[in-house]
Amino acid sequence: MSINLYSLGAAEEVTGSKHVLEVDGRLILIDCGAFQGIRAEADRKNREFDVPADKLDAVILTHAHFDHCGLLPMLGINGYRGNIYATPATRDLANIIMMDSAHIQAHDAEFLARQAVKRGGEFNWKPLFDESDVVNTTNQFVTVSYNRPTYVTPNVLLEFFDAGHILGSAMAVLTVTEKTGRVTKIAYTGDLGRKGKAIIRDPAILPPVDYMVLESTYGDRRHESTDDALAMLADIALKAIKMNGKIVIPAFAIERTQELVYYFHTLVDKKIIPEIQIYVDSPMAVNATSIFQIHPECYDADTHEAFIKHHKNPFGFNALKFVTSVDESKALNKLSGPMIIISADGMCEAGRITHHLANTIEDPQNQILLVGFMAAHTLGRRLQNRELEVKILGEWHKVRAEISQINAFSAHADYAEATDWLKSMDTTGLKKIFMVHGEPDVQLIFKEHLESQGYPNIQIVKYGETYEI
Ligand SMILES: [Zn+2]
Repeated sequence: MSINLYSLGAAEEVTGSKHVLEVDGRLILIDCGAFQGIRAEADRKNREFDVPADKLDAVILTHAHFDHCGLLPMLGINGYRGNIYATPATRDLANIIMMDSAHIQAHDAEFLARQAVKRGGEFNWKPLFDESDVVNTTNQFVTVSYNRPTYVTPNVLLEFFDAGHILGSAMAVLTVTEKTGRVTKIAYTGDLGRKGKAIIRDPAILPPVDYMVLESTYGDRRHESTDDALAMLADIALKAIKMNGKIVIPAFAIERTQELVYYFHTLVDKKIIPEIQIYVDSPMAVNATSIFQIHPECYDADTHEAFIKHHKNPFGFNALKFVTSVDESKALNKLSGPMIIISADGMCEAGRITHHLANTIEDPQNQILLVGFMAAHTLGRRLQNRELEVKILGEWHKVRAEISQINAFSAHADYAEATDWLKSMDTTGLKKIFMVHGEPDVQLIFKEHLESQGYPNIQIVKYGETYEI
């Protein structure tokens, strides 16, 4: 009789979250994320799927990011027939993320097959899963609202608390009762969010727990305050109006796009800026926005006060237009400013954003606003580095548009915010923190910081190592 926990992903790294809790021989998996990063390496790790799927008793999903939900379809393929517990909004968002992944994989497989035929070589790359596997996975979901304790196995009670990270994101607090009668509370933070994020509520103050599995992505960093975003967006919009220019914002279709729409709606509503035409040019963003719209149970008090109470939809207003067809998208190039174009992908590597950038970047009356993380070697990173000339769709363009950046949108707590959050709770009975989801050097810095703040028992979780509690 015992409780063991171990990680099969997101141990000393930031993607591929998979944590297993074993109670008296029953196995619960928390998150089943995909590894991301260098393509060949991530593909190999995702293919070596080492979760004992057919032996699991329950699966819990904390939130819908790809590095937490991306490999859920592999569970069914490998024999898991049980439930996947998640909040209603997480179920809906995870569905479009998994579907998108199946679609991209099918597309990649076709592309690689064509390339191989051209070279006369052999082709053996296959998608990990397809759309029908995603449908099967979605059917395994059981939705559990925040603060509705639910037994996921006869000996484990699950309660979801707000994580303040993305729509539907939750921390999972598990109350474990062993055959001996010993009761142990374990909290899984999933990804810990921040106070003051648009739309969603702040991270909840958890009840006292015995153990905590804590993420550490930004254990060495401070972010700009979330309060700064609104004022900075207002400045940029006012400048576009004055210059009669376009603002092009590369943003991922889910989350950042809805946050931007929410902020611009707020600015127009409060008459801080005059109405300025906003185009959201991404079919996936349209689908994602409709999910945001049907989950007002996730909204914070500000959103209820500003919109719901006045019978308004935070994601729909006069100045906003969703663009789905390619023709409409192309037509935007011919229109003159002032206007705001929000389009994907967020790192400017592919998609409609590349055309909008190519069309606006050489004109100094336009602005390009960067609002997200830009990985190395992407066009987004080159813009962030203020390179004077960049290649877009195979052609060189001089960068004459003004580039600005807002870093206040991060969805992860920085080290100070995570520490404040810990301090807001009663942690007198906290026996140990298991640190996951962070790069090794960052985790060491965060561990030292937390030790200095009065949290002496911290274990950095190693891949595959079992910890008995
Ligand atoms: Zn996340």
